[in-house]
Amino acid sequence: MNFFDKHKKRIWGIKRDTLRLILEVSRDSHPREFAGVLRAREGVVTEILLLPGTFSSSRHAIMQLHMLPIDFSVVGTVHSHPSPSLGWSREDLYLFQKFGRIHIIASYPYNEESWCAYDFYGNKVELEVID
Ligand code: ZN
Repeated sequence: MNFFDKHKKRIWGIKRDTLRLILEVSRDSHPREFAGVLRAREGVVTEILLLPGTFSSSRHAIMQLHMLPIDFSVVGTVHSHPSPSLGWSREDLYLFQKFGRIHIIASYPYNEESWCAYDFYGNKVELEVID
């Protein structure tokens, strides 16, 4: 993979601050799910946008993502699982395939090991955590 591919075409990293924010919001929402979208710059996830009014029930949190205006800096989605499961559900995969290139799931107990990133097909993607 050349430099251009690594830095322009694919999402290869996430800022540690952004990851910590995801884990913190997941923790605050527990035992409910939270959902949001990811923004990236130069292949690194730098920001999450939370969806207002999604802190209620899990299924609905995901569905409201469709109502969000999507701009070009939005690269995918993030949501939490109140269980220790990092695997995606059928609904999750359906969402992954709606838009975006990178999808993060954070699961209980929401520490720096309890999250995972997936691509459009639900394949695991390694993201570098950038300080
Ligand atoms: Zn899920």
